[in-house]
Amino acid sequence: MRVINNPPKYYCPRCNSMEIIDHGEYIECPKCYLDFFKDHIGEIDDENIVAEQELKRIIDSFEDLKDKKVRRNLLKSIENDNF
Ligand SMILES: [Zn+2]
Repeated sequence: MRVINNPPKYYCPRCNSMEIIDHGEYIECPKCYLDFFKDHIGEIDDENIVAEQELKRIIDSFEDLKDKKVRRNLLKSIENDNF
């Protein structure tokens, strides 16, 4: 793996590091251990850019909702107003 970022165009939206690893479609920050799609950098406000790893966590939490028991418990917690 080589660090290619010359001229510097992409950076880590989390730590603003220019030392990123170019993977083609996405970049990886060796400091944050996070991957970001290049399309998002410069297009979306830095604080709104979601890393691949963070996105996966969100998707996984939705995946849990496929389980009937999880859905029922969630609805129950909403009804009781204690998230
Ligand atoms: Zn970073």
